[in-house]
Order: sequence, then structure tokens, then C-alpha cells
Amino acid sequence: MRKKLHDRVASFKDASDLREKGLYPFFRAIESGQDTRVMIDGKEVLMFGSNSYLGLTNHPKIKEAAKAAIDKYGTGCAGSRFLNGTLDIHLALERRLAQYVGKPAAVIFSTGFQVNLGVLSCLTGRNDYLILDEYNHASIIDGSRLSFSRVIKYAHNNMQDLRVKLSLLPEEATKLIAVDGIFSMEGDIVKLPEIVEIAEEFGANIFVDDAHSLGVIGMNGAGTASHFNLTNEVDLIMGTFSKSFASLGGFIAGDEDVIDYIKHRARALLFSASMTPASVASVLAAIDIVESDPGIIDKLWANTNYAKKLLLAEGFDLGGTESPILPIYIRDNEKTFMVTNLLQENGLFVNPVVSPAVPSDSSLIRFSLMASHTFGQIDEAVDKLSKAFKALSVPLVKENI
Ligand code: PMP
Repeated sequence: MRKKLHDRVASFKDASDLREKGLYPFFRAIESGQDTRVMIDGKEVLMFGSNSYLGLTNHPKIKEAAKAAIDKYGTGCAGSRFLNGTLDIHLALERRLAQYVGKPAAVIFSTGFQVNLGVLSCLTGRNDYLILDEYNHASIIDGSRLSFSRVIKYAHNNMQDLRVKLSLLPEEATKLIAVDGIFSMEGDIVKLPEIVEIAEEFGANIFVDDAHSLGVIGMNGAGTASHFNLTNEVDLIMGTFSKSFASLGGFIAGDEDVIDYIKHRARALLFSASMTPASVASVLAAIDIVESDPGIIDKLWANTNYAKKLLLAEGFDLGGTESPILPIYIRDNEKTFMVTNLLQENGLFVNPVVSPAVPSDSSLIRFSLMASHTFGQIDEAVDKLSKAFKALSVPLVKENI
């Protein structure tokens, strides 16, 4: 038995190969808060690899709210929402989120990943169809596997393909189209108006994962459906608290009856402990900040547009991004790791993204903006990027085309 386990892992060489080359970029320990500058190995590094789009993870009001929640409720809830783990602030956050995204009801889970596992697996079953964009997040894929439903993937943001795939399905079958609102690696926005039209034509329901859209697009950052003014046309809105909202956890919002069903059927909710008091209070405080000062979202977009302009002027290939996620395409795994490594040595933290997170010919550096970055920091980061590409003779992809 023990030998079998070792035999199985022995064939996994990806990490050891990278370690041997001195290029291993994962599980880097950060010795400070997640801010525009972080400490790594005792050295200050510019952070352009965070999902803290609004830069709120060290906001004094949020930290204060988290501490007050610990003082009042303690550090954990010691159970699932279903039994002993529901606090009054869990319910308050659910009401607040429903209102924020414009749906009648919401329920919160302990991570965004668990929302997708729990919701997708309980809403569709053996004879139903889940229709997914091929670039959807891993949690949607895993949720669809747990559902045992028939999974149909269509080419990324390709509405013609979606229409063809739907037209082949039985008319009376239950069909749920599940998509990312902003795609987490490519940074483009889902074509929701077309999806709504197609869903109507073929009698499908719509689920939008707003992990990267909350706090970023829509009214006061209310997400993709709000951005397109299609909140009533989308059945389910999912979001996470681990990005713009400076915390940990996630939610699903929709009609009362659907949310009530999810509350009694989603195993990832029923059989897992509830969000900690500090995490809940942090989200409530983050929503207060976003709603009282939407200027913070304008700042995120000013930074995004500024960085995008500079990077494009340098000749970097940013694909079709429409968000604060700027993918810098290298399309070669080893070079992607080399650039990441050199940048880190030179004081810039970015994320290398290779297969299976993206197709094998699409490896990229994921460069993401925060509202708290200064233009000076963006200048510095772009300069470091250009120098690293030159020093390693990595072509800007556009030069190759
Ligand atoms: N959906 C998407 C699109 C994501 O990018 C992520 C996290 N990267 C999740 C869901 C899972 O969210 P969490 O990290 O809060 O578990």
C-alpha cells in the first residue's frame, strides 16, 4: 500500500524539474500583509500578482470590524450553518449581498470554490445538461463533475458554438449555462447579452461566477449582470470574498425558492463549517466601503487603463483583456517561469500561468492591478517587465507574428 502511493507520486516531476533549475515559483512565502509592496525573504517586492483588486486587505476599518467580531463571537463557529454554525451576522451578510447584487435571496459558503461545488452539484443531475465555457474556473468544472450531469463545453466566448451545442440538446431537458463573468486568466468579460438571448431561445438557465467581477464592474461593483443591466435575466449570481472583498468565503444569490433548496441540498454547505466571525465582519465592512466610496472602483480602472496603455506601448501581447487582469502572453512554459523568477529577483511579484490553468500554447504572466497601486509603482513594474524580457531575450509575442 505504502509503496503504491510512492509509485504513483514518483512519476510527478513537474515541481522537482523546476526546483532543479531554480525556477520553482509556487508557494512563495510572503512575510507581510497583502499590499502593493510585500516582503519576501526579507526583501521588499512590488505586488502585481494579487486578487485584492480594491486593495482593501489592510484597510483599518475592515481590520477593526474583524477584531470586533472576534471579541464578540470568538474565532470560529464550530459547526455547519445547518446546525450550530449560523450567527446573526451570517444572516445579515446574506441580506446585504442579496440587496447588493439585486436578487431576492442569498446564502454564503466558507469558500468560493465550495459555492461552485455545492450549487452546481445539487441543481443539476443525471439527465440534465451543464453547458460550460471551455475557460471556466476549475471549481465550475469540479462542481459539474460532482453533479453527474452531462457536461457540454463550448469554445471560449464563442456564441456560435454555444448556439450549435444547445440546438443539439433535447428540448425538454433541464439546461444550465454556467460561465465566469470575468475570465480569471484571460481577463475578458463574458458575452452575457448574447448568452441571455440564446438561453431564452433554447430554454436554458444562467449561472454567472462573479469571483473576479465583484467590486470591479457593474453598479458599485455589483458584477457582470449589473454591468450589462441584465440582473433579472440571470438566474444565479455567484461571488467570492477572497478578492475585492478582502476576506474568505463566497455566496450564491437568486430567487428565494432556489436559494432555500440550495440551503438544504448543497453538501459543501451542509457538511462544512460556516464562515468565521472575522471573515463575515470583514465582508460587511468591505461592502460598506465600496458602497460609500465608489471612487475606489474608478481608481482601480484608472490604474488598469494606465498600465494597459504602457504595456501595449512597449509591445506586450495582452490578448483580449477587458479588466484589471492583464495577461502578458509568452506562450512558452519555461520562458514564463524564467521571466517570473528574474522579476522576483528584481523586486516584482507576478504570477506564472501555465497548463492546465490555460491551454498549453497560452502560458502567460498574470499581471493584475489594485486600486491602491500608484502610477509610480505601475511605471516601475512595467520598466522591470521590459528589462526582464530583454535580459532573457524573450520575444514580445507581437514581434513573432
Ligand atoms: N471562481 C473563480 C472564477 C475563481 O477565480 C476562484 C478563485 N480563484 C473561485 C471561483 C474560487 O474562489 P475562492 O478562492 O474564494 O475559493
